[in-house]
Amino acid sequence: MKVIFHPRFCEVYTSDPAAAPGRMEPMVKALEKEFEFIEPEPASERDLERVHGKSHIQYVKADPLVYEIGCLAAGGAILAGELAFDGQPAFGLIRPPGHHASPHSCWGFCYFNNIAITIKRLMNEEKIKSALVLDFDLHYGDGTANTFNGSKEVSYFHPEGTSQQSFLNEVQTSLQTENSFDIIAVSAGFDRHEEDWGGLLKTEDYLTIGRWVKEASLERCLGRRFGVLEGGYNHSVLGRNVKSFIQGLSE
Ligand SMILES: [Zn+2]
Repeated sequence: MKVIFHPRFCEVYTSDPAAAPGRMEPMVKALEKEFEFIEPEPASERDLERVHGKSHIQYVKADPLVYEIGCLAAGGAILAGELAFDGQPAFGLIRPPGHHASPHSCWGFCYFNNIAITIKRLMNEEKIKSALVLDFDLHYGDGTANTFNGSKEVSYFHPEGTSQQSFLNEVQTSLQTENSFDIIAVSAGFDRHEEDWGGLLKTEDYLTIGRWVKEASLERCLGRRFGVLEGGYNHSVLGRNVKSFIQGLSE
């Protein structure tokens, strides 16, 4: 299991909660002893253009720091996806998050859609034809859904059960979709944790979800699976939550 991380993700590039100081460090601390860390290269403008319009890219470029870190985050997701395709499960410990970034707009602390850019690149390289996106963040990933709206190849699932059990049931049902997929990409947001904004899931639930993703990938797509960080704002529990998910995903 590889963790994709760059020290620049610790930079405070805006004043939103995803960019808050001290958010990444506890996750690095929780993971660095057990997992191998790899540094990504920034995504190229060509990578961005497979998902985003030129005017959106120009809009983000107007803030050079956000653009630089945003390209690095997308590059981190790409590296996680490429490793996963090669049979090595991986997790992109990246920010800014991406699931609220649509082709021509963005909001919710997102700029570029890291997961969508990765899937489009793997498709462009003719490595995959289809993908399943499981988004367990508290918030609906409208950017990812918009990017793949009407696509038969990419299935986007955002479980919304309001009890712990119904939420987990929905996660399982999503992974049992009849649609075929060549890789599983997880938008891993930890803001649904009982001590975060959503107040629902326990730390061990992320281990369970990680295991289910791993099992589904072994059954359906040669074990190809990766995750990328989306939300999660309580710095005191993020480390153990992300570790729990990655352990399940990797075991
Ligand atoms: Zn969220």
